[in-house]
Amino acid sequence: MKDQKLRDVLGDRTQKALHKAFGYVSVFDLLGHYPRRYATRGELTSIAQVPLGEQATLVAEVVSVSQRSMRQRRGNVLEVTITDGTGLVTLTFFNQAWRAKDLIAGARGIFAGKVGEYRGVRQLAHPDYELFDTAEHSEQASEEWAKRPIPFYRATSSMASWQIAKAIGVALDVLGDCEDPVPAQIRDSENLMDFAQALEAIHRPAELSDAARARETLLFHEAFVLQCALVKRRRAGLLVATAVRTPGELTNSFVKALPFELTPDQESVINDIHDDLASGHPMNRLVQGEVGSGKTVVAATAMVTIAQSGGQTALLAPTEVLAAQHFRSLIATLGPDMAARMNPVLLTGSLPAAVKKKALLAAASGSSHLVVGTHALLSDSVAFADLGLVVIDEQHRFGVDQREALRQKGTHPHVLVLTATPIPRTVAMTVFGDLDVSTIATMPSGRSPIDTHVVALDDHPEWFARVWQRLSEEVAQGRQGFVVVPAIAPAELEESEVLEADEPESEGDSAARALTTVMETLPMVRALPEFSAISLEAMHGRVPSDEKDRLMNAFHAGEIDVLVATTVIEVGIDVPNASIMVVLDADRFGVSQLHQLRGRVGRGEHPGTALLVTHAVAGSPARERVDAVASTLDGFELAAIDLELRREGDVLGARQSGMRSGLKLLRVSHDGELIERARRWAGELLEQDPDLSDHQSLAEAIARRLDDSAEEFLEKN
Ligand code: ADP
Ligand code: MG
Repeated sequence: MKDQKLRDVLGDRTQKALHKAFGYVSVFDLLGHYPRRYATRGELTSIAQVPLGEQATLVAEVVSVSQRSMRQRRGNVLEVTITDGTGLVTLTFFNQAWRAKDLIAGARGIFAGKVGEYRGVRQLAHPDYELFDTAEHSEQASEEWAKRPIPFYRATSSMASWQIAKAIGVALDVLGDCEDPVPAQIRDSENLMDFAQALEAIHRPAELSDAARARETLLFHEAFVLQCALVKRRRAGLLVATAVRTPGELTNSFVKALPFELTPDQESVINDIHDDLASGHPMNRLVQGEVGSGKTVVAATAMVTIAQSGGQTALLAPTEVLAAQHFRSLIATLGPDMAARMNPVLLTGSLPAAVKKKALLAAASGSSHLVVGTHALLSDSVAFADLGLVVIDEQHRFGVDQREALRQKGTHPHVLVLTATPIPRTVAMTVFGDLDVSTIATMPSGRSPIDTHVVALDDHPEWFARVWQRLSEEVAQGRQGFVVVPAIAPAELEESEVLEADEPESEGDSAARALTTVMETLPMVRALPEFSAISLEAMHGRVPSDEKDRLMNAFHAGEIDVLVATTVIEVGIDVPNASIMVVLDADRFGVSQLHQLRGRVGRGEHPGTALLVTHAVAGSPARERVDAVASTLDGFELAAIDLELRREGDVLGARQSGMRSGLKLLRVSHDGELIERARRWAGELLEQDPDLSDHQSLAEAIARRLDDSAEEFLEKN
């Protein structure tokens, strides 16, 4: 089942527009653009009866169109009033003025969306719609709709839903009967439609029930192909041989010298790791545990075990600040004797040349058993004498290819990934399916609770002043604090620091507001009378790294009271005296990210306070995220909420998973049971046919799913 290029089957303009809009290149790319919803004549409502808060589909005519800019925020609103003779409804579009070129007075069409109300007028925000070309067409089309559901597709300014439907029609016709990647036996057991039939039925259903069944089938396909890819990758990894590394005298004396008892979770994770290291095959393990759960000790134990047999560990951190902090905390964790044995070195881009040269030499000669650094470790000039273990901190910042680049510096080294972002099991299985997962679920005792409050400025603008009072009171008691904002300077987004998250969600609530910045917030707070004796400093990605170190040291030492920062402080910063965090524009951060951020306070004896300041309107999705964070301290629950509120593709994007495209129908938050079933089938099938030589169309479906780096990964193993 060879995938054809769109340029061979579609007109040039259509093909280019599809590529520009969605990046589609091939027939299967396009056929994977499933309808968002369907409308049928049967469910048409008259405007007089549109039900508030529910989905409605209306056939109506445009009466008037107006555009205005929004008050207090950047952006504009397009308002389109439509009627069907029984009443009026307003359609609103935020920042989509281009729609005014089709939506002109007199235009007729079908409109579908959720019915809301604004100042007593019924409205549909961002409805799906399809306009009738002419009066005649509408008659004819209405006939058609009487029988068939009409698919609505995610559309753009250059590709309307109906244009996409037309292109998909062509693609379906050229596809014809294609071979099914799911073997017949599995298809029967799972009661699935044939693949080609399912594609036909999801795009051109005769009835809604056909589309629903097609969706079930394609959902299974998605889970199954993905699991086959992951199981195949895992099996390949298990065939590779690597040096056996067993714990010994060094390991024992290290654990004995620790100033505390390991928690049972820490012990069990260390056992998992030691089993892996002794297995003769490369470990690929993810250790997850909340901030402060004690992952560092676990990783250090593994490092000592590697050193036991003369091997080296490379620890890769996402930023220089974190690399330096890991370096310090590892030295502290190892203790003076063990640190002397391990001879740790720091290797980052900004080191003076002479220092760097020494570090490079220590790595290449094997005299250092622990090299801590940033992505500078990936550079060609870095070599190791015997790289036995790669430890990667904070999975979400590194992609498969970077993991791979570091692995290439050793002979199949073991890989240990540490993450403080809890990952629900189904996500781990879906997105990190090539990793084994260990969890540290319980915290060492002695952490203080964190009190989280939402400061909703939309309802209570006067609370803004109270926030700063509260912060200054905390400082007056000898504590320290953070103010976190989403951007450094006005009118630009720092790619690395403004969340991988949070596409403006076009509900118009906060999306169009200018982001609050460090540059504006710092002088604003400094100028407040209650801050006259309080020292504030700015911390963000553009602060030179030696200055960053200086600031961090000063903050540690209590010489700085408050840091006004971007998310550079998100991970790893450990200042027990910091007890309060103010997050401005909290709705611009992801759920898990807010949770991470607030983990910076309450790390010592003083209870922590997090104030999540937001303009987002109650009930908006942006506000829901903020409310969710305030509602619980359970990181796993929040990770699950994150998945509910946002598409998995955004949470754990293609970058991490090595998959070309994000998930389509599969929702890892809902489809856990299906994913497990698909995993079992994938395991059985690959057991019988490890290289898929008898399942050619499945092999092709997998190849379509994996991006280049992931394919290379497969080949290298
Ligand atoms: P993480 O890396 O998971 O955020 P750390 O490893 O930095 O957490 O541990 C946080 C703090 O808890 C450190 O000061 C560490 O020394 C301490 N710690 C770790 N394990 C234990 C334990 N079993 N009992 C008491 N304290 C511990
Ligand atoms: Mg840590």
